[in-house]
Amino acid sequence: MKKMLTIALLACLFVLLQPSMGHAEEAKELPARVTAWEDGRTWNSSSLRDGNYNTKLSFNGTGEVVVETDEDMRGLYLVWDSVPGPWLLKAESDGTSRGLLCGQSGFLHEYVALDEPSKKVSVCMPKEGTILCDVFAYGEGELPSDVQVWQNPCEDADMLLISTHADDEHLFFGGTMPTYAGELGYDVQIAYLTHHWAEPYRPHELLNGLWTVGMTHYPIISTFTDYYSDNLEHAKTLWDLNEVEAYEVMLLRRFKPEVVIDHDVNGEYGHGAHRLNTWVLQQAIEWAADPAWRAGEAAESGSYLAQAQALPAFGVQKVYLHLWPENAVRMNWDKPLSHFGGRTAFEMAGAGFACHRSQQQWFSMGRTGVFDSAAFGLYYTAVGPDEKTEDADFFEHVVWASGEPADGASESAEPAETLPEPAGEAPEEAQPADKDQGHSPDETFPELLWRRYKAFILGAIGGIAVVAAVVMLGGKKRYKGKH
Ligand SMILES: [Zn+2]
Repeated sequence: MKKMLTIALLACLFVLLQPSMGHAEEAKELPARVTAWEDGRTWNSSSLRDGNYNTKLSFNGTGEVVVETDEDMRGLYLVWDSVPGPWLLKAESDGTSRGLLCGQSGFLHEYVALDEPSKKVSVCMPKEGTILCDVFAYGEGELPSDVQVWQNPCEDADMLLISTHADDEHLFFGGTMPTYAGELGYDVQIAYLTHHWAEPYRPHELLNGLWTVGMTHYPIISTFTDYYSDNLEHAKTLWDLNEVEAYEVMLLRRFKPEVVIDHDVNGEYGHGAHRLNTWVLQQAIEWAADPAWRAGEAAESGSYLAQAQALPAFGVQKVYLHLWPENAVRMNWDKPLSHFGGRTAFEMAGAGFACHRSQQQWFSMGRTGVFDSAAFGLYYTAVGPDEKTEDADFFEHVVWASGEPADGASESAEPAETLPEPAGEAPEEAQPADKDQGHSPDETFPELLWRRYKAFILGAIGGIAVVAAVVMLGGKKRYKGKH
Protein backbone atom coordinates (compact mmCIF):
# COMPACT_ATOMS: atom_id res chain seq x y z
CA MET A 1 0.00 0.00 0.00
CA LYS A 2 2.77 2.39 1.02
CA LYS A 3 4.70 1.46 -2.08
CA MET A 4 1.67 2.28 -4.23
CA LEU A 5 1.28 5.60 -2.44
CA THR A 6 4.92 6.42 -3.09
CA ILE A 7 4.52 5.52 -6.75
CA ALA A 8 1.39 7.67 -6.96
CA LEU A 9 3.18 10.59 -5.33
CA LEU A 10 6.17 10.19 -7.63
CA ALA A 11 3.80 10.08 -10.61
CA CYS A 12 2.22 13.34 -9.41
CA LEU A 13 5.68 14.84 -9.00
CA PHE A 14 6.61 13.76 -12.53
CA VAL A 15 3.47 15.33 -13.98
CA LEU A 16 3.89 18.53 -11.96
CA LEU A 17 7.48 19.01 -12.99
CA GLN A 18 6.88 18.49 -16.71
CA PRO A 19 8.23 21.58 -18.48
CA SER A 20 5.36 21.41 -20.95
CA MET A 21 2.80 21.78 -18.19
CA GLY A 22 0.15 24.26 -19.19
CA HIS A 23 1.43 24.40 -22.76
CA ALA A 24 0.05 22.97 -25.95
CA GLU A 25 1.92 20.09 -27.48
CA GLU A 26 4.81 21.09 -29.68
CA ALA A 27 4.10 21.19 -33.39
CA LYS A 28 6.00 18.52 -35.29
CA GLU A 29 8.08 19.29 -38.30
CA LEU A 30 6.40 17.00 -40.80
CA PRO A 31 8.26 14.75 -43.21
CA ALA A 32 7.44 16.34 -46.56
CA ARG A 33 7.84 15.60 -50.26
CA VAL A 34 9.10 18.81 -51.81
CA THR A 35 9.01 19.29 -55.57
CA ALA A 36 10.58 22.29 -57.25
CA TRP A 37 9.04 23.14 -60.65
CA GLU A 38 9.99 25.61 -63.31
CA ASP A 39 8.69 25.72 -66.92
CA GLY A 40 7.36 22.16 -66.56
CA ARG A 41 10.72 20.76 -65.37
CA THR A 42 11.52 19.61 -61.87
CA TRP A 43 14.71 20.42 -59.99
CA ASN A 44 16.44 18.51 -57.24
CA SER A 45 14.92 20.06 -54.15
CA SER A 46 17.20 18.56 -51.49
CA SER A 47 18.78 21.97 -50.86
CA LEU A 48 15.39 23.21 -49.71
CA ARG A 49 15.23 20.63 -46.93
CA ASP A 50 18.73 20.74 -45.46
CA GLY A 51 18.30 23.63 -43.02
CA ASN A 52 21.28 25.38 -44.59
CA TYR A 53 20.79 28.94 -45.82
CA ASN A 54 23.90 28.64 -48.00
CA THR A 55 22.29 26.00 -50.23
CA LYS A 56 19.37 27.35 -52.26
CA LEU A 57 17.40 27.28 -55.49
CA SER A 58 16.85 30.20 -57.83
CA PHE A 59 13.59 30.41 -59.79
CA ASN A 60 12.07 32.37 -62.61
CA GLY A 61 8.58 33.84 -62.50
CA THR A 62 6.93 30.48 -63.32
CA GLY A 63 8.71 28.69 -60.48
CA GLU A 64 6.69 26.77 -57.97
CA VAL A 65 7.58 24.66 -54.95
CA VAL A 66 5.04 22.00 -54.02
CA VAL A 67 5.08 20.62 -50.48
CA GLU A 68 3.12 17.43 -49.76
CA THR A 69 2.68 15.67 -46.43
CA ASP A 70 0.74 12.65 -45.11
CA GLU A 71 -0.37 14.44 -41.97
CA ASP A 72 -2.17 17.76 -42.00
CA MET A 73 0.05 20.80 -42.33
CA ARG A 74 -0.89 23.84 -40.26
CA GLY A 75 1.90 26.11 -41.39
CA LEU A 76 4.91 26.55 -43.59
CA TYR A 77 8.26 28.06 -42.56
CA LEU A 78 10.27 29.59 -45.39
CA VAL A 79 13.79 30.92 -45.43
CA TRP A 80 14.32 33.21 -48.43
CA ASP A 81 17.65 34.40 -49.76
CA SER A 82 16.42 37.96 -50.12
CA VAL A 83 13.05 39.44 -49.34
CA PRO A 84 10.82 38.15 -52.18
CA GLY A 85 8.00 40.70 -52.08
CA PRO A 86 4.36 39.57 -52.06
CA TRP A 87 3.89 35.99 -53.26
CA LEU A 88 1.02 33.54 -53.60
CA LEU A 89 0.53 30.37 -51.60
CA LYS A 90 -1.98 27.79 -52.88
CA ALA A 91 -3.30 25.31 -50.35
CA GLU A 92 -5.48 22.32 -51.15
CA SER A 93 -8.01 21.15 -48.64
CA ASP A 94 -11.21 19.13 -49.09
CA GLY A 95 -10.61 19.03 -52.84
CA THR A 96 -10.55 22.79 -53.22
CA SER A 97 -7.58 25.04 -53.74
CA ARG A 98 -7.33 28.33 -51.90
CA GLY A 99 -4.93 31.17 -52.52
CA LEU A 100 -3.27 33.10 -49.74
CA LEU A 101 -1.28 36.27 -50.40
CA CYS A 102 1.93 36.13 -48.37
CA GLY A 103 5.17 38.06 -48.06
CA GLN A 104 3.50 41.40 -47.48
CA SER A 105 5.47 42.08 -44.31
CA GLY A 106 8.77 41.72 -46.15
CA PHE A 107 10.27 39.10 -43.82
CA LEU A 108 13.32 37.08 -44.88
CA HIS A 109 12.35 34.25 -42.51
CA GLU A 110 8.63 33.82 -42.81
CA TYR A 111 6.14 31.55 -41.07
CA VAL A 112 2.81 31.22 -42.87
CA ALA A 113 -0.06 29.84 -40.81
CA LEU A 114 -2.57 28.06 -43.05
CA ASP A 115 -6.24 29.03 -42.78
CA GLU A 116 -7.26 25.37 -43.14
CA PRO A 117 -5.28 22.18 -42.53
CA SER A 118 -3.81 20.92 -45.81
CA LYS A 119 -1.71 18.06 -47.15
CA LYS A 120 -0.57 19.90 -50.27
CA VAL A 121 0.56 23.49 -50.63
CA SER A 122 2.37 25.34 -53.41
CA VAL A 123 4.63 28.33 -53.12
CA CYS A 124 4.41 30.41 -56.32
CA MET A 125 7.54 32.41 -57.00
CA PRO A 126 6.63 36.03 -57.63
CA LYS A 127 9.38 37.00 -60.04
CA GLU A 128 12.51 36.09 -61.95
CA GLY A 129 15.45 35.60 -59.62
CA THR A 130 13.46 34.66 -56.51
CA ILE A 131 15.71 32.46 -54.37
CA LEU A 132 14.48 30.07 -51.70
CA CYS A 133 16.87 28.51 -49.16
CA ASP A 134 14.60 26.28 -47.08
CA VAL A 135 11.01 25.24 -46.61
CA PHE A 136 9.59 23.26 -43.67
CA ALA A 137 6.08 22.05 -42.94
CA TYR A 138 4.59 22.03 -39.43
CA GLY A 139 1.64 20.22 -37.95
CA GLU A 140 -0.71 21.33 -35.22
CA GLY A 141 0.59 22.62 -31.87
CA GLU A 142 2.95 25.14 -30.43
CA LEU A 143 5.82 25.87 -32.79
CA PRO A 144 9.36 24.92 -31.74
CA SER A 145 11.32 27.90 -30.43
CA ASP A 146 13.67 28.00 -33.42
CA VAL A 147 10.84 28.76 -35.84
CA GLN A 148 10.94 32.53 -36.17
CA VAL A 149 7.46 34.00 -36.13
CA TRP A 150 8.21 37.68 -36.51
CA GLN A 151 5.88 40.48 -35.60
CA ASN A 152 5.88 43.64 -37.67
CA PRO A 153 8.20 46.42 -36.47
CA CYS A 154 6.85 48.23 -33.41
CA GLU A 155 4.09 50.79 -33.83
CA ASP A 156 5.37 52.51 -30.72
CA ALA A 157 8.61 51.23 -29.26
CA ASP A 158 9.78 51.57 -25.67
CA MET A 159 13.40 51.32 -26.74
CA LEU A 160 15.27 51.77 -30.03
CA LEU A 161 18.71 50.31 -30.68
CA ILE A 162 20.60 51.68 -33.65
CA SER A 163 23.25 49.15 -34.58
CA THR A 164 25.65 49.95 -37.40
CA HIS A 165 26.28 46.39 -38.58
CA ALA A 166 24.82 42.96 -38.01
CA ASP A 167 26.72 41.75 -34.90
CA ASP A 168 27.36 45.13 -33.19
CA GLU A 169 24.06 44.78 -31.33
CA HIS A 170 25.46 41.83 -29.35
CA LEU A 171 29.13 42.85 -29.16
CA PHE A 172 28.55 46.40 -27.95
CA PHE A 173 25.00 46.56 -26.55
CA GLY A 174 25.51 43.24 -24.75
CA GLY A 175 22.63 42.17 -22.55
CA THR A 176 20.30 45.00 -23.62
CA MET A 177 18.04 42.88 -25.84
CA PRO A 178 18.02 39.70 -23.70
CA THR A 179 17.11 41.80 -20.66
CA TYR A 180 14.63 44.33 -21.99
CA ALA A 181 13.05 42.41 -24.89
CA GLY A 182 13.43 38.80 -23.71
CA GLU A 183 13.19 38.93 -19.93
CA LEU A 184 11.14 42.05 -19.28
CA GLY A 185 9.04 42.04 -22.44
CA TYR A 186 9.44 45.70 -23.39
CA ASP A 187 8.76 46.65 -26.99
CA VAL A 188 12.30 46.86 -28.26
CA GLN A 189 12.97 47.85 -31.86
CA ILE A 190 16.30 47.53 -33.60
CA ALA A 191 17.39 49.36 -36.73
CA TYR A 192 20.62 48.91 -38.68
CA LEU A 193 22.50 51.78 -40.26
CA THR A 194 23.91 49.55 -43.00
CA HIS A 195 22.90 46.40 -44.85
CA HIS A 196 24.86 43.30 -45.85
CA TRP A 197 22.82 41.98 -48.79
CA ALA A 198 26.03 41.52 -50.78
CA GLU A 199 26.98 38.82 -48.25
CA PRO A 200 23.75 36.78 -48.31
CA TYR A 201 24.54 34.75 -45.19
CA ARG A 202 24.70 37.85 -43.00
CA PRO A 203 21.00 38.80 -43.00
CA HIS A 204 20.30 35.21 -41.82
CA GLU A 205 22.89 35.58 -39.08
CA LEU A 206 21.27 38.88 -38.15
CA LEU A 207 17.77 37.40 -37.77
CA ASN A 208 18.98 34.24 -36.03
CA GLY A 209 20.92 36.36 -33.54
CA LEU A 210 17.98 38.63 -32.78
CA TRP A 211 15.59 35.71 -32.39
CA THR A 212 18.05 34.00 -30.04
CA VAL A 213 18.14 36.99 -27.68
CA GLY A 214 14.35 37.30 -27.47
CA MET A 215 13.57 39.94 -30.07
CA THR A 216 10.15 39.56 -31.68
CA HIS A 217 9.69 42.75 -33.72
CA TYR A 218 11.23 42.52 -37.17
CA PRO A 219 14.31 44.73 -37.58
CA ILE A 220 14.67 47.74 -39.84
CA ILE A 221 17.56 47.44 -42.27
CA SER A 222 18.56 50.58 -44.14
CA THR A 223 19.37 50.95 -47.83
CA PHE A 224 22.98 51.96 -47.05
CA THR A 225 25.52 49.36 -48.18
CA ASP A 226 28.16 48.38 -45.64
CA TYR A 227 31.61 49.83 -46.38
CA TYR A 228 34.65 49.94 -44.17
CA SER A 229 35.82 53.29 -42.90
CA ASP A 230 38.39 54.21 -40.30
CA ASN A 231 37.32 57.78 -39.62
CA LEU A 232 34.27 59.97 -39.31
CA GLU A 233 35.07 62.42 -42.11
CA HIS A 234 35.49 59.56 -44.57
CA ALA A 235 32.31 57.89 -43.32
CA LYS A 236 30.35 61.08 -44.03
CA THR A 237 31.19 60.64 -47.71
CA LEU A 238 30.14 57.01 -48.03
CA TRP A 239 26.42 57.67 -48.45
CA ASP A 240 24.16 60.63 -49.10
CA LEU A 241 24.64 62.31 -45.73
CA ASN A 242 21.29 64.11 -45.94
CA GLU A 243 19.61 60.73 -46.28
CA VAL A 244 21.57 59.20 -43.39
CA GLU A 245 20.43 62.10 -41.23
CA ALA A 246 16.84 61.75 -42.41
CA TYR A 247 17.00 57.98 -41.75
CA GLU A 248 17.70 58.52 -38.06
CA VAL A 249 15.13 61.30 -37.75
CA MET A 250 12.62 58.96 -39.39
CA LEU A 251 13.51 56.17 -36.93
CA LEU A 252 12.96 58.41 -33.91
CA ARG A 253 9.68 59.79 -35.23
CA ARG A 254 8.35 56.45 -36.47
CA PHE A 255 9.16 54.33 -33.42
CA LYS A 256 8.68 57.01 -30.76
CA PRO A 257 11.09 55.31 -28.33
CA GLU A 258 11.41 56.52 -24.76
CA VAL A 259 15.01 55.29 -24.69
CA VAL A 260 17.61 55.10 -27.49
CA ILE A 261 20.85 53.10 -27.39
CA ASP A 262 23.72 53.82 -29.77
CA HIS A 263 27.45 53.35 -30.28
CA ASP A 264 30.52 54.88 -28.72
CA VAL A 265 31.31 58.32 -30.24
CA ASN A 266 34.78 56.98 -31.06
CA GLY A 267 33.34 54.02 -32.95
CA GLU A 268 34.50 51.41 -30.43
CA TYR A 269 37.44 49.95 -32.33
CA GLY A 270 37.37 53.09 -34.46
CA HIS A 271 34.98 52.16 -37.26
CA GLY A 272 33.97 55.34 -39.10
CA ALA A 273 30.44 54.10 -39.72
CA HIS A 274 29.90 53.50 -35.98
CA ARG A 275 31.06 57.08 -35.37
CA LEU A 276 28.83 58.45 -38.10
CA ASN A 277 25.84 56.59 -36.67
CA THR A 278 26.27 58.28 -33.29
CA TRP A 279 27.37 61.65 -34.67
CA VAL A 280 24.10 61.79 -36.63
CA LEU A 281 22.03 60.66 -33.65
CA GLN A 282 23.51 63.35 -31.41
CA GLN A 283 21.94 65.90 -33.76
CA ALA A 284 18.87 63.89 -34.73
CA ILE A 285 17.60 63.99 -31.13
CA GLU A 286 16.97 67.71 -31.66
CA TRP A 287 15.94 67.48 -35.31
CA ALA A 288 13.32 64.78 -34.70
CA ALA A 289 11.70 66.95 -32.05
CA ASP A 290 11.58 70.02 -34.30
CA PRO A 291 8.56 70.10 -36.64
CA ALA A 292 10.35 72.69 -38.80
CA TRP A 293 13.39 70.52 -39.49
CA ARG A 294 13.77 70.36 -43.30
CA ALA A 295 10.00 70.56 -43.44
CA GLY A 296 9.75 72.57 -46.66
CA GLU A 297 12.55 70.82 -48.51
CA ALA A 298 11.73 68.95 -51.72
CA ALA A 299 12.04 65.24 -51.02
CA GLU A 300 12.10 62.36 -53.45
CA SER A 301 9.17 60.01 -53.01
CA GLY A 302 10.13 57.06 -50.83
CA SER A 303 13.31 58.74 -49.58
CA TYR A 304 14.07 58.79 -45.87
CA LEU A 305 13.56 62.54 -45.92
CA ALA A 306 10.05 62.14 -47.34
CA GLN A 307 9.33 59.53 -44.66
CA ALA A 308 10.68 61.76 -41.89
CA GLN A 309 8.71 64.75 -43.15
CA ALA A 310 5.49 62.75 -43.14
CA LEU A 311 5.82 61.92 -39.43
CA PRO A 312 5.03 64.16 -36.45
CA ALA A 313 7.90 65.55 -34.42
CA PHE A 314 8.96 63.45 -31.49
CA GLY A 315 11.22 63.94 -28.49
CA VAL A 316 12.91 60.99 -26.84
CA GLN A 317 13.43 60.91 -23.07
CA LYS A 318 16.82 59.26 -22.73
CA VAL A 319 19.76 58.44 -24.98
CA TYR A 320 22.56 56.16 -23.85
CA LEU A 321 25.81 55.84 -25.72
CA HIS A 322 28.12 52.91 -25.32
CA LEU A 323 31.24 53.93 -23.32
CA TRP A 324 30.07 57.56 -22.96
CA PRO A 325 32.14 58.86 -20.03
CA GLU A 326 29.67 61.36 -18.57
CA ASN A 327 26.76 60.21 -16.41
CA ALA A 328 28.30 56.75 -16.70
CA VAL A 329 26.23 53.74 -15.72
CA ARG A 330 27.09 50.07 -15.43
CA MET A 331 24.60 47.51 -16.49
CA ASN A 332 24.47 44.17 -14.74
CA TRP A 333 24.33 41.58 -17.52
CA ASP A 334 25.21 38.75 -15.14
CA LYS A 335 21.85 38.16 -13.50
CA PRO A 336 20.20 34.85 -14.42
CA LEU A 337 17.17 35.43 -16.63
CA SER A 338 14.14 33.15 -16.23
CA HIS A 339 13.09 33.72 -19.82
CA PHE A 340 16.32 32.02 -20.93
CA GLY A 341 16.27 29.17 -18.42
CA GLY A 342 18.60 30.92 -15.98
CA ARG A 343 21.23 31.93 -18.51
CA THR A 344 22.49 35.48 -18.03
CA ALA A 345 22.04 38.42 -20.37
CA PHE A 346 25.77 38.34 -21.11
CA GLU A 347 25.60 34.64 -21.96
CA MET A 348 22.61 35.29 -24.20
CA ALA A 349 24.42 38.13 -25.95
CA GLY A 350 27.18 35.61 -26.58
CA ALA A 351 24.64 33.14 -27.96
CA GLY A 352 23.30 35.90 -30.23
CA PHE A 353 26.77 36.77 -31.43
CA ALA A 354 27.52 33.07 -32.03
CA CYS A 355 24.81 33.15 -34.74
CA HIS A 356 27.10 35.52 -36.67
CA ARG A 357 29.26 32.67 -37.84
CA SER A 358 31.00 34.72 -40.51
CA GLN A 359 32.19 37.24 -37.90
CA GLN A 360 33.65 34.87 -35.32
CA GLN A 361 37.13 35.13 -36.81
CA TRP A 362 37.15 38.91 -36.39
CA PHE A 363 35.60 39.58 -33.01
CA SER A 364 34.63 38.04 -29.70
CA MET A 365 32.46 39.09 -26.80
CA GLY A 366 34.47 40.98 -24.24
CA ARG A 367 34.27 42.56 -20.81
CA THR A 368 37.00 45.15 -21.00
CA GLY A 369 38.04 48.15 -23.04
CA VAL A 370 35.91 49.02 -26.06
CA PHE A 371 34.26 45.58 -25.92
CA ASP A 372 32.87 46.21 -22.43
CA SER A 373 29.18 45.92 -23.27
CA ALA A 374 28.07 46.87 -19.74
CA ALA A 375 29.52 50.40 -19.88
CA PHE A 376 27.19 53.16 -21.04
CA GLY A 377 26.68 56.83 -20.33
CA LEU A 378 23.48 58.83 -20.28
CA TYR A 379 24.23 61.21 -23.13
CA TYR A 380 20.86 62.94 -23.19
CA THR A 381 18.02 63.06 -20.72
CA ALA A 382 14.75 64.93 -20.48
CA VAL A 383 13.95 63.20 -17.19
CA GLY A 384 16.98 63.95 -15.06
CA PRO A 385 20.13 61.99 -14.31
CA ASP A 386 20.13 58.38 -13.25
CA GLU A 387 20.33 57.75 -9.54
CA LYS A 388 21.18 54.10 -9.87
CA THR A 389 24.48 54.01 -11.71
CA GLU A 390 25.50 50.45 -10.76
CA ASP A 391 23.15 47.69 -11.89
CA ALA A 392 21.44 50.55 -13.72
CA ASP A 393 18.10 50.56 -15.51
CA PHE A 394 17.83 52.25 -18.89
CA PHE A 395 14.20 53.07 -18.06
CA GLU A 396 14.86 54.77 -14.72
CA HIS A 397 12.71 57.91 -14.45
CA VAL A 398 11.04 57.34 -17.81
CA VAL A 399 7.57 58.86 -17.83
CA TRP A 400 4.89 56.61 -19.31
CA ALA A 401 1.73 57.72 -21.03
CA SER A 402 -0.41 56.42 -18.20
CA GLY A 403 1.00 59.29 -16.16
CA GLU A 404 2.67 56.90 -13.75
CA PRO A 405 6.34 57.70 -13.88
CA ALA A 406 8.67 54.89 -13.01
CA ASP A 407 9.86 55.46 -9.42
CA GLY A 408 7.76 58.64 -9.22
CA ALA A 409 10.70 60.60 -10.50
CA SER A 410 9.11 62.88 -13.07
CA GLU A 411 9.44 65.97 -10.84
CA SER A 412 13.19 65.66 -10.94
CA ALA A 413 13.11 65.96 -14.74
CA GLU A 414 16.02 68.08 -15.76
CA PRO A 415 16.60 68.53 -19.48
CA ALA A 416 20.19 68.37 -20.61
CA GLU A 417 21.81 71.74 -21.00
CA THR A 418 23.23 71.21 -24.44
CA LEU A 419 19.96 70.23 -26.07
CA PRO A 420 16.51 71.78 -25.98
CA GLU A 421 13.77 70.10 -24.07
CA PRO A 422 12.21 67.61 -26.47
CA ALA A 423 9.20 69.00 -28.23
CA GLY A 424 6.33 66.95 -29.56
CA GLU A 425 4.16 64.63 -27.64
CA ALA A 426 6.70 62.30 -26.09
CA PRO A 427 5.39 61.64 -22.60
CA GLU A 428 1.71 61.80 -23.59
CA GLU A 429 1.81 59.44 -26.55
CA ALA A 430 4.46 57.11 -25.28
CA GLN A 431 2.05 54.36 -24.29
CA PRO A 432 3.57 50.97 -25.04
CA ALA A 433 1.68 49.65 -28.04
CA ASP A 434 0.60 46.22 -27.01
CA LYS A 435 0.21 45.48 -23.37
CA ASP A 436 -0.91 41.93 -23.96
CA GLN A 437 2.26 41.08 -25.78
CA GLY A 438 4.61 42.04 -23.05
CA HIS A 439 5.34 43.78 -19.83
CA SER A 440 3.37 46.96 -19.35
CA PRO A 441 5.77 49.30 -17.64
CA ASP A 442 3.29 50.36 -14.96
CA GLU A 443 2.87 46.78 -13.84
CA THR A 444 4.75 46.02 -10.62
CA PHE A 445 7.57 43.53 -10.72
CA PRO A 446 5.77 40.86 -8.61
CA GLU A 447 2.73 41.16 -10.89
CA LEU A 448 4.92 40.69 -13.91
CA LEU A 449 6.64 37.68 -12.35
CA TRP A 450 3.32 36.14 -11.46
CA ARG A 451 1.80 36.65 -14.90
CA ARG A 452 4.83 35.30 -16.70
CA TYR A 453 5.71 32.38 -14.50
CA LYS A 454 2.35 31.42 -13.01
CA ALA A 455 2.44 27.91 -14.47
CA PHE A 456 6.01 27.40 -13.41
CA ILE A 457 5.46 28.76 -9.88
CA LEU A 458 2.34 26.62 -9.36
CA GLY A 459 4.22 23.61 -10.70
CA ALA A 460 7.16 24.30 -8.42
CA ILE A 461 4.91 24.70 -5.34
CA GLY A 462 3.15 21.46 -6.22
CA GLY A 463 6.49 19.77 -6.78
CA ILE A 464 7.85 20.95 -3.44
CA ALA A 465 4.70 19.69 -1.68
CA VAL A 466 5.05 16.28 -3.28
CA VAL A 467 8.77 16.10 -2.53
CA ALA A 468 8.01 17.01 1.10
CA ALA A 469 5.40 14.24 1.25
CA VAL A 470 7.81 11.71 -0.23
CA VAL A 471 10.58 12.76 2.18
CA MET A 472 8.20 12.52 5.15
CA LEU A 473 7.11 9.10 4.01
CA GLY A 474 10.74 8.07 3.59
CA GLY A 475 11.59 9.51 7.00
CA LYS A 476 8.78 7.60 8.61
CA LYS A 477 10.00 4.42 7.04
CA ARG A 478 13.52 4.96 8.34
CA TYR A 479 12.15 5.76 11.77
CA LYS A 480 10.18 2.56 11.75
CA GLY A 481 13.20 0.70 10.51
CA LYS A 482 15.12 1.63 13.62
CA HIS A 483 12.77 -0.33 15.71
ZN1 LIG B 1 30.16 47.32 -36.61
